[in-house]
Amino acid sequence: GQDLELVSLTKRYGEALAVNRIDHHFRAGSYACLLGPSGCGKSTTLRMIAGHEAPTDGSIVLGGSDVSWMPPARRGTAMMFQNYALFPHLTVIDNVAFSLKMKGVEATVRRKKASAMLDLVDMVRYADRRPDQLSGGQQQRVALARALITNPQVLLLDEPLSALDPFLRIRMRAELKRLQRELGITFIHVTHSQDEALALSDEIVVMNNAVIEQAGPARNVFNRP
Ligand code: ADP
Ligand code: ADP
Repeated sequence: GQDLELVSLTKRYGEALAVNRIDHHFRAGSYACLLGPSGCGKSTTLRMIAGHEAPTDGSIVLGGSDVSWMPPARRGTAMMFQNYALFPHLTVIDNVAFSLKMKGVEATVRRKKASAMLDLVDMVRYADRRPDQLSGGQQQRVALARALITNPQVLLLDEPLSALDPFLRIRMRAELKRLQRELGITFIHVTHSQDEALALSDEIVVMNNAVIEQAGPARNVFNRP
């Protein structure tokens, strides 16, 4: 993973300020959970980091380089969404290999890399299935493999567990922590659940009304008088 620095990061939609000059340092290899009420700017922040949305002002510095104007595929970030967004007509392995195909990587190399990613999330035996033949938890793991195949320095997760049943949710938490340990990636995970934030995070970042209201280890953020 790499250090990620948000410098006076700002997003306006017309008159509305969705993100208002936030500054934050995400430590390389750490797991941060982003909490806050609906509409406070969490997803917009994530989309700007991933490059799906251009900041109105401020910058995003990854490993010392300003990546603010780099296209998503080149900046070293990957994003995983709540609904997984797998391609329904492609097999599991072709879903995972998709970004490599776009980059013109040769078929045998693609398959090999995609298999290695499926192994990482324990889904090799489902390589030739289609998404609608998988459970929610399995689709989730495929989506993780698809994000990880790009070798991201920063992995962005927008409420990745909210569609899962409670049992699977607990299991996926353990999987995410394992990936943090094994790959050393910097995680930024948006959630509505304090419980989830407590279980996963090295650091909790609380947003409210387009700004960061509080940030620190869970014990500091939750145990206040
Ligand atoms: P959160 O993820 O915390 O729920 P968002 O980042 O989605 O919040 O939204 C922050 C604010 O920006 C909200 O007021 C929302 O209505 C507004 N917003 C988000 N996306 C757009 C958009 N594409 N166009 C206009 N306003 C938007
Ligand atoms: P996991 O914990 O691996 O996500 P589940 O406990 O949800 O899986 O499901 C257990 C088994 O049932 C899996 O091996 C999966 O193949 C099968 N399964 C679950 N849902 C579906 C589905 N919608 N279609 C086909 N098979 C399914």
